[in-house]
Amino acid sequence: MVEDFFAAAYAPTPESFQRCIESIKSISLEAYNWIIQSEPLNWANSYFHGARYNHMTSNFGELFYSWASDAHELPITQMVDVIRGKIMELIYTRRTDSIQWLTRLAPSMEEKLKKETHKVHSLQVLLSAGSTFEVRGDTIEMVDIDHWDCSCKGWQLTGLPCCHAIAVIGCMGRSPYDYCSRYFTTDSYRLTYSESVNPIPSVDVPVPKDSSQLTVTVTPPPTRRPPGRPTTKRYGSQEVVKRQLQCSRCKGHGHNKSTCKEFI
Ligand SMILES: [Zn+2]
Ligand SMILES: [Zn+2]
Repeated sequence: MVEDFFAAAYAPTPESFQRCIESIKSISLEAYNWIIQSEPLNWANSYFHGARYNHMTSNFGELFYSWASDAHELPITQMVDVIRGKIMELIYTRRTDSIQWLTRLAPSMEEKLKKETHKVHSLQVLLSAGSTFEVRGDTIEMVDIDHWDCSCKGWQLTGLPCCHAIAVIGCMGRSPYDYCSRYFTTDSYRLTYSESVNPIPSVDVPVPKDSSQLTVTVTPPPTRRPPGRPTTKRYGSQEVVKRQLQCSRCKGHGHNKSTCKEFI
């Protein structure tokens, strides 16, 4: 059922999405109803309106969370600076790595394009005068070269031309690179990591002695929140923080007013 769910999320067309969730329906009507209510418009490839370049993940913030929990014990200003340092490190490594790249696209995209190109030899393109071509292979697909569109939906979903599109592009004597999303280029990657996040200058700078007169004493806010950082609640974590019962009648713990047996 989990595989069907993943397949539904990745399914390129409403028909294939439907097929996947019908399979789930045959196993569990409850799961099926949950999926319908979860607004597939926001996560299923076949209904999603925007472009997300085939990225599908439920733990987008995982890296950030691990950074934040490393700095968990620190005061907030130092915590922000630790996270800034990690971001800086990430930017630096990605920038230096990409300096070595000689390909037009980032290596992972270059790899994907190569994979699609390998499938082209088994395809047959029916030439046409307009911008729409018919491509025959295991299936028959329509490629609209002007609108970067293939009926298999692969081109639109990934931002890289699918094998059908590459076949047509080849027939026209053009380069598939001219039909890839610009975000996949090595240039774009380098541009993304070209800037730095500078440290906050005042962090760790001791307050000059003579300014002590001006120092305002900051008292804690009048909240009933207990001291210390609140218990971390992370997405996906199974940990449930249980509130300790306290009785309003006798102030004892472990029971409440209605179950109080204390003699007062
Ligand atoms: Zn296609
Ligand atoms: Zn009590």
